[in-house]
Amino acid sequence: MPLPTQRHFESLLTGIDQGVQAHLAWNQRLMRCALLHESPGEDMMQPDAHRRCIFGKWFLTEQPALAGLDAQTTTELERQHRAMHDAVRALCTQSSQGQPASEPDLHAYELGQTAMMACLNTLRQKVGESVLQHDVLTGLPLRHGLSYAFDLRQKDAMRNGWPLHLAMVDVDHFKVVNDTWGHAVGDLALQHLSRLMSDCLRETDIVIRFGGEEFLFLLLGSGAEAVITRLLDEVRNHPMPMDNGQSLRMTVTAGITPVLGTDTLEAAVNRADHAMLEGKLHGRDRFVIAQAPSG
Ligand code: GH3
Ligand code: MG
Ligand code: MG
Repeated sequence: MPLPTQRHFESLLTGIDQGVQAHLAWNQRLMRCALLHESPGEDMMQPDAHRRCIFGKWFLTEQPALAGLDAQTTTELERQHRAMHDAVRALCTQSSQGQPASEPDLHAYELGQTAMMACLNTLRQKVGESVLQHDVLTGLPLRHGLSYAFDLRQKDAMRNGWPLHLAMVDVDHFKVVNDTWGHAVGDLALQHLSRLMSDCLRETDIVIRFGGEEFLFLLLGSGAEAVITRLLDEVRNHPMPMDNGQSLRMTVTAGITPVLGTDTLEAAVNRADHAMLEGKLHGRDRFVIAQAPSG
């Protein structure tokens, strides 16, 4: 199946977000049913309520696209969504008959809702990652789709009050590597460095190959400096073994900047780039932090 287009990705995210909202709202709907002995609506009392709700209808059409991104989570989502609706139906039936809610049904409702939210969150992340296309040499995502990935993380950061940092990392004196050992060894060196970079990432971080020997990091959450410090150490301490028995020592220089809610990708990249160049001027194998403009 071809990868969804950017517009399709956006509509997938909207559908996922609406699914989360709609199914969190069931807490309120259930309370009304319980207190007022009201039905949640005839269609929600049917055995196939999970296919009749707005999310259920959306899910049926988008199931192939979601399964293409993560088949296991999509199957689990379907199961948990159904379990949640089954529990809702049981609880509303008990309430309309004036009975207290059964503990196992209440438990099943809570479990189903939590598991469903977890599945939706996983799929949300998968959609965000898939928008990035990958580089054949290093296996890292490429620049294409970066602005979309940036927007997603910026919104997540602002919504949750998490810090977000952008870092530009450039290999030091890489031209010398090519000139001394040849382009093929240069390619191997980029693969070696990419592996070290990927190993430094935390779950919510991404690294992309921004250009030739330049890499861009989006670091979500506190501790961005620690991630880059570790990367510098890893690169310095892990020279690449070469076929001739020698090992190739390399270092990288980084510029880091915090990303504001009002930042554009371009502005953040420019700040990080300038900081990185300052690091080059001051001796390389280091990072420089560029503060975001105040106000
Ligand atoms: P600086 O420390 O100032 O960054 O020096 P530098 O030599 O790394 O910088 P410069 O921009 O002069 O050279 C970058 C080199 O990276 C030149 C280019 O040929 C090489 N390069 C870019 N992409 C690739 C690639 O995919 N494979 C190989 N082998 N080399 C590449
Ligand atoms: Mg460069
Ligand atoms: Mg360089």
